Amino acid sequence: MANTALGILSILFALAFLVLSSPKYYDNTFFRLWEDREHDNEHPRLHVLLLTAHPDDECMFFAPTLLGLARITRHVGEQGSYYGPLADVYSLCLSSGDAEGLGETRKSELEAALDVLGVREGRRWVLDEPFHDNITEFWDAKLIAQQIKPYIEDNKIDVILTFDELGISSHPNHISLERGVRALLSESPRRHLRAFSLKTTDLIPKYTGAAAGLVAKYEEVICILLPNSSLLQALPTQLAVPFLSILPVADCSKFDGDKVNDRALFLSSWPEYVTALFAMQEHQSQLIWFRWLYMLFSRYMWVNEWEEMVIETV
Ligand SMILES: [Zn+2]
Repeated sequence: MANTALGILSILFALAFLVLSSPKYYDNTFFRLWEDREHDNEHPRLHVLLLTAHPDDECMFFAPTLLGLARITRHVGEQGSYYGPLADVYSLCLSSGDAEGLGETRKSELEAALDVLGVREGRRWVLDEPFHDNITEFWDAKLIAQQIKPYIEDNKIDVILTFDELGISSHPNHISLERGVRALLSESPRRHLRAFSLKTTDLIPKYTGAAAGLVAKYEEVICILLPNSSLLQALPTQLAVPFLSILPVADCSKFDGDKVNDRALFLSSWPEYVTALFAMQEHQSQLIWFRWLYMLFSRYMWVNEWEEMVIETV
């Protein structure tokens, strides 16, 4: 009996390993942004800025996207003259994470982590002032807009990526970034500056780890076979159970590259997950026991879902 259970477990593990052995990107939105903007030889790629609040945010929440953007290649340059990355990625961290007086240490840890995640020197910055790592403080949205504006303009940024209005962990510093980017977009709308926020999920899906990646791949298959059905209803053995109709309907629109213009999804594979772990290893001052649990169980080490921030214009 124990042997059978072990055999089944091994098969399931091998299947999960296979399913998660390749990354997946629904990046049509970014591709269209790249197509829509005006190209010149000095600026042939999309300039994407990751805006974070603390050193380690980039590993804990955004690694699937950073690693994904580094892998997405297109024909770029004049008349598709060379094959290269779709995007140049920049990183701006608005505080040094100095809540415990470790600002300088955390800044050098961030440098090392961004090396692992592929964000080059000269394209990454940390601000010492005016924002400070504080779990009880919201940062002023207008001041954020004012601080980030020069980085946007000097580096001809096309796309800003940051937290959403719930900040993944509800940290007020994270939430402030979304408000700051909205303030920037509404103050000085530049035709081609767009911003996307990382979707905060409910508590349970947030801690599903590698299973979140498996669910995303399963959902994609369901959407191909049985579009817009409840996730479990699509399993043949469950078809007869009516109460399953209360389960959430699979949101298939996000997989439809022809229709989606305001969302993107990055799903890591095992090698990318391991790279994110190595990057997190650089944040030695932060590696207390519960962060290891986080890395094991967090969905954000595997899946990043993005939604565009829409600014109402009057
Ligand atoms: Zn943070």
